[in-house]
Amino acid sequence: MGRKTTRRQTATKPRLQAARKGKAAKLKPRKAQSKADSKAAHGGLPQWTTAEIEAAFRRFAVANPEPRGELQHINPFTLLIAVVLSAQATDAGVNRATPALFKLADTPEKMIKLGEARVRELIKTIGLYRTKAKNVIALSRVLVEQHGGKVPRDRAALEALPGVGRKTANVVLNIAFGEPTIAVDTHIFRVGNRTGLAVGKTPLDVEMKLMQVVPQRYRLHAHHWLILHGRYVCVARRPLCEKCIIPICANGRAKPSIRPR
Ligand code: SF4
Repeated sequence: MGRKTTRRQTATKPRLQAARKGKAAKLKPRKAQSKADSKAAHGGLPQWTTAEIEAAFRRFAVANPEPRGELQHINPFTLLIAVVLSAQATDAGVNRATPALFKLADTPEKMIKLGEARVRELIKTIGLYRTKAKNVIALSRVLVEQHGGKVPRDRAALEALPGVGRKTANVVLNIAFGEPTIAVDTHIFRVGNRTGLAVGKTPLDVEMKLMQVVPQRYRLHAHHWLILHGRYVCVARRPLCEKCIIPICANGRAKPSIRPR
């Protein structure tokens, strides 16, 4: 037996359709999204105003006041190792391998004692594991020989370690030492460029721009908020604009009614 359409349902349908055409969340079709991304990458988006940036970060802070990184670690040394291992690999993949490694070696001295072959064996599920095992041992030696077995709270000293670049140094300074650094990974690079928050051709450009525009009081957590936003909401292929808490984004859905003046 067919279902009858009630008068109430007939009245609701046009209202829903009208709502969808109006201010309700809309996803851009994939083609339009890539066009917008490409325009953004060429600096075609307007820079956010100070009020817009404040509004976006205030929302991040309300939604997640104490954001945490997803790489498992026990101390600054294991954090450094986890970040080195995460280059061109996922945090989840690194987290699967590191508990066994850190159980045997949670200090540079123990890591050297464990030896490159054993480290290689323990991290062989992670991409580029041969080079990474070599770097883990080499950087442990430098820590013991030049820094008394401690991770230095110094950018230049960190960047001088084998396998450690600016991004890794920024993550360690931020998480282990509470420095307000912003490490630009693939997610932050995309979010910065796609939204118009921090447009730049290289990760360093985007980092410098973010350090300029993100208000001081939000800088400590900006790194985590932006990474988590890029990883779970403003994803590469099809951003989930309907779940986005950013009040204004030049690339996704614009929400004029709440755009700050
Ligand atoms: S920041 Fe939000 S609204 Fe903008 S593209 Fe990303 S998910 Fe969509």
